[in-house]
Amino acid sequence: MEAQKKSLVVQISGRDNVAIAVREIPAGTEVREGLTANHDIPQAHKIALEDIGAGDPVIRYGVVLGYAKEPIKKGDWINEFMLDLPEPPSVEHMEWGKNIVTDLPEPPCTTFEGYRNPDGGYAGTRNILGISTTVQCVTGVLNVAVKRMREELLPKYPNVDDIVPVNHAYGCGVAINAPEAVIPIRTLRNLAKHPNFGGQLMVVGLGCEKLTVEMLLDKADITPENVIILQEQKGFNAMIDALMEMADKKLQILNQRKRETLPLSDLCIGMQCGGSDAFSGVSANPSAGYAADMLVKAGSTVMFSEVTEVRDGVHFIAERCVSEEVCQKLAKEMQWYDRYLAEGDVDRSANPTPGNKKGGLCNIVEKAMGSIAKSGTSPIVEVLSPAEKPTKHGLIYAATPASDIVCGPCQLASGITLQVFMTGRGTPYGLAAAPVIKVCSRNEMKEMWQDLIDVNAGPITTGDATIQEIGTELFHKIIAVASGKEKSCAEKYGLHNDLCIFNPAPIT
Ligand code: CA
Repeated sequence: MEAQKKSLVVQISGRDNVAIAVREIPAGTEVREGLTANHDIPQAHKIALEDIGAGDPVIRYGVVLGYAKEPIKKGDWINEFMLDLPEPPSVEHMEWGKNIVTDLPEPPCTTFEGYRNPDGGYAGTRNILGISTTVQCVTGVLNVAVKRMREELLPKYPNVDDIVPVNHAYGCGVAINAPEAVIPIRTLRNLAKHPNFGGQLMVVGLGCEKLTVEMLLDKADITPENVIILQEQKGFNAMIDALMEMADKKLQILNQRKRETLPLSDLCIGMQCGGSDAFSGVSANPSAGYAADMLVKAGSTVMFSEVTEVRDGVHFIAERCVSEEVCQKLAKEMQWYDRYLAEGDVDRSANPTPGNKKGGLCNIVEKAMGSIAKSGTSPIVEVLSPAEKPTKHGLIYAATPASDIVCGPCQLASGITLQVFMTGRGTPYGLAAAPVIKVCSRNEMKEMWQDLIDVNAGPITTGDATIQEIGTELFHKIIAVASGKEKSCAEKYGLHNDLCIFNPAPIT
């Protein structure tokens, strides 16, 4: 009985004056000795552990989430309307290197089965013909061709997993010379050479667009073997014939690729979360962090991102940076994003969604603290601008928007070949170019979406599993999916979101 009562709430830090309801707690319930719920507390929402005066801090994760607008009584439900948001921490003169953890958990294995790449970069987890485009105008024709390629060509090449058109909304009607245009251009350049595409370039252009083939590819790669310009083709059927012919040649080469046993240092994965709730920072994200630590220990590269979701905890990230240079790049990326948001007359408080709030996340500080947990404890060896490629192995902060469908393409462009995605409220999100493993924060989510969630971190919230246990389970799942021995749920059903390329530059 007592054990059951203990598991009604989760308190993270001894300093916290709030705890999270493991399940819905009706008013009048004795939550634990001396603490009775004054209101119905929805699952994942906060209950006050002590009286909190007006203007006093509300503390979770040992961090000030905000300041009470009105006095809060012990046992009260705390919702998003009751807190004033604190100022974001300054990014000037951040202390770096104060928290360098070298004692990382031992990985259960140090190799995986991947596709070595001719450029010597990260290995592929899938063998895909990726077809890049310079502009949205070609998408209709390309999609018709890809449907035929999948039906007529793909069955001939059993070692190739898929044919993926890299369709996007960029390329024309854009201010191509604007300083920030470097981001979408870099994204598309790097996507064309994604590790899962095996070094086989295939690019479709229209012929009159602003993003020319010359901007997308290196000069040596611009050949009739790699590039088709639709305005140079005599009508629709000629376009389809040319696309089919080029794809057939590329597929023949890709079909020669074989998986081989490779060190985990050849693996590069990304971490993201979406549809988060107040449990995300208790169960799913810390488990992902544990798996990330094991991967880093094995030499892998792990990226985490989502600027608005780390902004309030940026000083914790700075402490983990290995050099002043890395810390300065972190500050620069945060400042750039602060300005970008300010130009739209918003700040990081625009991030949380109605679903986040329904899931008990009061504000962006609370969301950020949970979000950062997915980075584990490893030192941060590099900070990347959106869609930049890493030059180091280890834990990397890749600055991207938090929007799921924008973060995905940015991380893909930076070279991830698998993404781990944590969710509290559920999303069927997926990427065509790399498998996405879904980790949920609550048992109820897993029960609801049995066939869409790959790993359930919910048992951590009820005391039925540890972060280490679920983190290790996730590590094994990452290796199995990366090695092609298993497919993730989203991959099995072919759930692929559109590629929303981050374009902070003007549209004309
Ligand atoms: Ca996200």
